[in-house]
Amino acid sequence: MSETVQRLDPLDRRPLSDKTCLITGSSRGIGRDMAFEFARCGADVVVNYRSSDEKAQEVTDRIRANDETAIAVGADVSDPDDVARMADEVHDELGSVDVLVNNAGITVDRKFEDMTYEDWNRVIEVNLNGTFNCTKAFYDDIKTADQGRLINISSVVGQQGNYGQANYATSKGGLIAFTRTIALELARHGSTANCVAPGFTETDMLEKVPDRVREQIREDIPLDRFADTEDIVGMVRFLAGDYADYMTGQVIGINGGMEW
Ligand code: NAD
Repeated sequence: MSETVQRLDPLDRRPLSDKTCLITGSSRGIGRDMAFEFARCGADVVVNYRSSDEKAQEVTDRIRANDETAIAVGADVSDPDDVARMADEVHDELGSVDVLVNNAGITVDRKFEDMTYEDWNRVIEVNLNGTFNCTKAFYDDIKTADQGRLINISSVVGQQGNYGQANYATSKGGLIAFTRTIALELARHGSTANCVAPGFTETDMLEKVPDRVREQIREDIPLDRFADTEDIVGMVRFLAGDYADYMTGQVIGINGGMEW
């Protein structure tokens, strides 16, 4: 067995114990369950939220109740000044960040002929510019970390498009191109950037979709169910850990077989 393989311990129950991980939009949904899982794996966790102060506090309380470290930091990812303030707060409290997960995202769905500039812009501002702002604020941390990680949450919709989601699909497709480019620039520093592209996942975001449309979507999923948050979180945890050292610039689809 080579030295590299010996370094990895399949029985390590706290594989992220020396990492500080920031997850944007983690007061609910996929991000919240990521925060719980990262903390369970021993990471110090930063729970970012925009307005749900109480919900973010509930997440950090639950993590701390298990003797793990978590702080909640409010910031609208679409506002560069807010993100810069968040970075200062995180650096003061926990030092530099090893893993940044750009998870915050919104939808404003409307077929293209009815989509306004505001509908378009708000989604691009949060999903795409928000990822730029946070990556910018923590880029030096990730670059200089021992195996820093940038993980962007895209979507199957960014790979194949979706009726009524020109703004969202464009933002999520943009994340794929962004990830591939940053992966090239980070590689010389030994850090990685990857994208996870979930399919339709049971969270508040999917709740907004009318039942009739949900049923149509489900019929197109070969595995015949929506994802649950655990389906997504497991892959993000893998990408954050040592087993993913040699993976970069990848887009990993978790979509029940919708897209190859
Ligand atoms: P969600 O709506 O439950 O969670 C989104 C989170 O982002 C919330 O906590 C929200 O407060 C936060 N957020 C929104 N705007 C923000 C801002 N400006 N600043 C900071 N935080 C902000 O949805 P989810 O399903 O958990 O989504 C998580 C990610 O997964 C999103 O990027 C979403 O696009 C992506 N995704 C979701 C699905 C799905 O079907 N649920 C599928 C593919 C991809």
